[in-house]
Order: sequence, then structure tokens, then C-alpha cells
Amino acid sequence: MPIVSQIMCDGCQAVKKETNHWYTMVIGDDHEACLRPMAFTPSNLLQAGAPGVVQYFCGRLCAIAALDRWMEGVTACAAAESNGG
Ligand SMILES: [Zn+2]
Repeated sequence: MPIVSQIMCDGCQAVKKETNHWYTMVIGDDHEACLRPMAFTPSNLLQAGAPGVVQYFCGRLCAIAALDRWMEGVTACAAAESNGG
């Protein structure tokens, strides 16, 4: 039984088809995120497929929304680390 791995948008749960305007966002350990077109995402990252590490987005709007959520998170984190300063 073949394993069908389909790619879904982490923003709106759309399923990737033939289109190629998708983006990926890779969350790093050190409060960094790398957002890039899927076509330019290294294949080893795509093959790793670890949940929560590589996120897929069906287009600019979903990618920007995710980046916005991520920025809120790191902003809160930075505020906590600066100890109210
Ligand atoms: Zn989407």
C-alpha cells in the first residue's frame, strides 16, 4: 500500500496540487524563521517533513499570516527575556 504524502497549507488546510506558488517557513532554534518560496527550499528540508519544523503555505496571505503569528511569539519572548526593561 503506497504512502501518499500530500502537502497541506498550515494556514488554511488547502491541499497542494500542481500549483507552484507555495511557500515554506522553517522555524529555527534561535528565535529565527526562514520564509522562502517552496521552489527554493532545500529538498533535504522538504524530505525531513518533521511536523512543526517545516510549515507549508499555499500563498502569500497564509505565509504572511503565519509570519505575523510567529513575530507575535518572538516579541512576547523577547519582552519576557528583557525582564520588563
Ligand atoms: Zn493557505
